[in-house]
Amino acid sequence: MTVIDLGVPSLGPADPVPADGPLIDTFGRIATDLRVSLTDRCNLRCTYCMPADGLDWLAGEQLLTPDELTRLLTVAVTKLGITSVRFTGGEPLVAKNLEDIVAATAALRPRPEITLTTNGIGLAKRAAKLKQAGLDRINVSLDTVDAARFSRITRRDRLPDVLAGLQAAKAAGLDPVKVNAVLDPVTGLQDAVELLRFCVDNGYQLRIIEQMPLDADHQWQRDRAIGADDVLSALRRHFELTPDSAPRGSAPAELWRVDGNRGVVGIIASVSHAFCSACDRTRLTADGQVRNCLFARQETDLRHLMRTGAGDDALEAAWRAAMWAKAAGHGINDPGFVQPDRPMSAIGG
Ligand code: SAM
Ligand code: SF4
Repeated sequence: MTVIDLGVPSLGPADPVPADGPLIDTFGRIATDLRVSLTDRCNLRCTYCMPADGLDWLAGEQLLTPDELTRLLTVAVTKLGITSVRFTGGEPLVAKNLEDIVAATAALRPRPEITLTTNGIGLAKRAAKLKQAGLDRINVSLDTVDAARFSRITRRDRLPDVLAGLQAAKAAGLDPVKVNAVLDPVTGLQDAVELLRFCVDNGYQLRIIEQMPLDADHQWQRDRAIGADDVLSALRRHFELTPDSAPRGSAPAELWRVDGNRGVVGIIASVSHAFCSACDRTRLTADGQVRNCLFARQETDLRHLMRTGAGDDALEAAWRAAMWAKAAGHGINDPGFVQPDRPMSAIGG
């Protein structure tokens, strides 16, 4: 199959779904990167993600069991060509068996790259065990290094736990440790400068992510969210940034070298410079739904299929069909954009 430019698909969702080969959509994009949400629960309440009172959590029987999850990971890696698996949530460290899940994933062949996105709470105690289980790399979310602003953004007073988690991740050899930051509309530019200084000083790689309309409260406003161009201008007033020469590939971050070789910062302009044409992701929620995009409005229920006796071939076919139907882009900038029903915490970022 030829990889074609987005916007002019030669095939449509009505064409037959490929029965084998890579996990491809009608635009020729191939998904090799699986994002797995392990839980919708979280111990923070970040304003851009969760409501203050939390959500109606998924009930235990709605969650994939460890065996069901391992089965789907096996299908993904051995039949669908997934080469990298990122565990996320909700807060994935809330899953007490995370080390076992990582170890089971590391035992798959071909072994996928295994990464984790976490808020870092509880990481100080678990980073070394996760590394030992097979975790390759980690992203720790931190939006400010100011304790008062951290409490306001996350609605919890836990900055020291996150900082301890970061240190433990580095000590465990999870290299590079990346810091994910979503900027507050009011203090975000100041936070970005302080975060970059902190990351450069401590040997972490900062990734600044544009805030997307995925908050449970549906409060996102385009004109309030800080855009990548404004972030770059603010950073340039304090640091010398030069474009990183490494090829970007499907990576969402545009990378910049900081003050020569002191560090690297990535800007993820998901809204202002969308990179959907290079998307290589497929997503699995904690309740076993495949989503072909963060912003998808439809899901494919693999948990139901498994619990009604489907074989691996049927799971593979359903997953392929889900991805075949992937839209050209997230549509945030379209006039008729409708935010998905699930917030970020229930999808898995
Ligand atoms: N709890 C973990 C954490 O915060 O890293 C993992 C799940 S969280 C949903 C994954 C990532 O999504 C985090 O880096 C978070 O900052 C980001 N995120 C959450 N809501 C977002 C939004 N509305 N727009 C952009 N990124 C968001
Ligand atoms: Fe929790 Fe992560 Fe959402 Fe913050 S961004 S509320 S840490 S899931």
